[in-house]
Amino acid sequence: MALDHSNPELHTRFRLGGTLSSAVFITVHLVCFAAIWTGVYWRDIAICVGLYWLRMFAITAGYHRYFSHRTYKMGRVMQFIMAFLAQSSAQKGVLWWAANHRHHHRHSDQPEDCHSPVQRGFWWSHVGWIMSSDHTETRADDIKDFSQYPELVWLNKYHVLPVVVLAAIVYLAAGWSGLVVGFFWSTVITWHGTFTINSLTHVFGKRRYETTDDSRNNWLLALITMGEGWHNNHHHYQASCRQGFFWWEIDATYYILKGLEKLRLVRDLREPPRHLVEGKAHPRRAAVLAAKANRQTSARPTAARVDDSEPQLAPLAPLANLKVD
Ligand SMILES: [Zn+2]
Ligand SMILES: [Zn+2]
Repeated sequence: MALDHSNPELHTRFRLGGTLSSAVFITVHLVCFAAIWTGVYWRDIAICVGLYWLRMFAITAGYHRYFSHRTYKMGRVMQFIMAFLAQSSAQKGVLWWAANHRHHHRHSDQPEDCHSPVQRGFWWSHVGWIMSSDHTETRADDIKDFSQYPELVWLNKYHVLPVVVLAAIVYLAAGWSGLVVGFFWSTVITWHGTFTINSLTHVFGKRRYETTDDSRNNWLLALITMGEGWHNNHHHYQASCRQGFFWWEIDATYYILKGLEKLRLVRDLREPPRHLVEGKAHPRRAAVLAAKANRQTSARPTAARVDDSEPQLAPLAPLANLKVD
């Protein structure tokens, strides 16, 4: 649903929604200081580290590579579990997240991009756009495919539920210090780890491919985010499940998904085509260009250069391919 600024009643509701989520966002940061009173124990640190990696995996494998880009397949139960786990990271609902991300790719680093650091700077792209009242609603038009599953629509509507469930489990298992350190610390660290992809990977790092945006590859951010730092690779070819295109580009999410594929929990992981990894045109197109260049050799010898404008596969497979078990 697009934000209707012309309707004052609706606009007030959205603004209130933005204010409320901003208050919760700030409060969660402040709660972390309660560790001064609860104390910090090694068990709590272990829970914090474990929940960080578990939820980061659910964000990158679930929210990003599955729900936003459909780069592999899984069954309907597994799909729900992945969405539930990702929502326990308190980054709003699965449909909200994926729809906004698709919007980012469509308008990447253009004025319409909701979190472009190139357009609006670091703070806006890192946390400002989340705290603003302009992006509180799910962009329904951008996520029609997954909206056909009522259980996902329900989960998206009650997006706080998985957060509360996880917090309750941690409290019952480890008490107040476990809740503050294990749950709240890891939630805040997972937030900022995820947000670095919006705020830093369009500014710092190397550009291997000439994309239409400012996306970059950054090895440090790839380590922190389990492979999401290979962001220029990803913008170059969004349909690939694998984001580290070479063996030295560590992509922990992809390795875990390969393991889950062996266990038959996921399937059909998509790889980047070789010619795209090499930054070349598709072989068929390259052959056509070469033949054309040969015909023009005497007149214009430089025309033999192969350009890199081969259109990549659409990020979304046809709806028919979405069928889950
Ligand atoms: Zn993406
Ligand atoms: Zn991006």
